[in-house]
Amino acid sequence: MKIIALEEHFQLAEIKETVNKLLPNSHQSLYNPPTEQLEDLGARRLHAMDAMGVDVQVLSHQAAGIPQIPAAEAVALSRTINDRLAEVVRAHPDRFAGFATLPTPDPEAAARELERSVRTLGLKGTMIHGQTNGRFLDDPLFSPILEAAAALDVPIYLHPAPPSRAVANAYYAGFDPAVSESFATFGWGWHLDTGIHALRMVLGGVFDRYPGLQIVLGHWGEMIPFYLARFSQAMSHTTKHLQRPVADYFTQQMYFTPSGMFTLPPFQLTLQLVGADRILYSVDYPFRADDQARTFLESAPISPTDKEKIAHGNAEQLLKLSV
Ligand code: CA
Repeated sequence: MKIIALEEHFQLAEIKETVNKLLPNSHQSLYNPPTEQLEDLGARRLHAMDAMGVDVQVLSHQAAGIPQIPAAEAVALSRTINDRLAEVVRAHPDRFAGFATLPTPDPEAAARELERSVRTLGLKGTMIHGQTNGRFLDDPLFSPILEAAAALDVPIYLHPAPPSRAVANAYYAGFDPAVSESFATFGWGWHLDTGIHALRMVLGGVFDRYPGLQIVLGHWGEMIPFYLARFSQAMSHTTKHLQRPVADYFTQQMYFTPSGMFTLPPFQLTLQLVGADRILYSVDYPFRADDQARTFLESAPISPTDKEKIAHGNAEQLLKLSV
């Protein structure tokens, strides 16, 4: 069974260095990312993929603060990232595919970069990390990006990013700094933020405006599946402006991946809610690189047909992969 993983990260050292200079006072993470694994795009990565049983990684650059830096720099750095990513994919077309990085601070330029990335470089969509200058993608400012993704028929993978400083202070501060920081980000907060991001896109009518748009959510839907019935029912009286029942947007225009959360309860809940056609696979390499990457899916209590869809079939269809 071929496994295609969709939330697999890399980092270019020169991009990280440039962004750090542009954002000297940014949120300093207390968590040390696995830099060597992030920056390796050759033998070491391929070896790790073989060890995990992952056949194809759809690569995306680490957040690296691109949504927070000045627009002109974001445009230049995104081009560098996407050009390099295309070279990596060309070197191993049977093992890698790529999601473009977009300069979201300049939405028109981001739309053009997405078109260049897909049409010229052969990338398969984009990954967007959280808010851009305090705004979510339902803001009309970002219409050019959504329009381009829908027109090019490529998905947007909505990835978490640290919450705003105001939210972090109001909701997650007051503990040992390491506790507050992880609570605000990968322990809880940025997942809640990403779920809210997707809910805002529903409420803002984004999916009615772009019925061809597909978004991908990691971490089994960023908390949404557990509350989907409640949200749909409770919001039904105030969402008359939407063309479809709220729950339909999740089964028609969203995909869900594990991001290395290899436990059965959230998987089974998501599967029951959206069905096997809407689930893709992801490991979140190199933040997760464990041996469950393959065994979790192989031993999951689902039919062989559903396993094939989740492991590679849905991804091949969505990303139009021929590998
Ligand atoms: Ca990730």
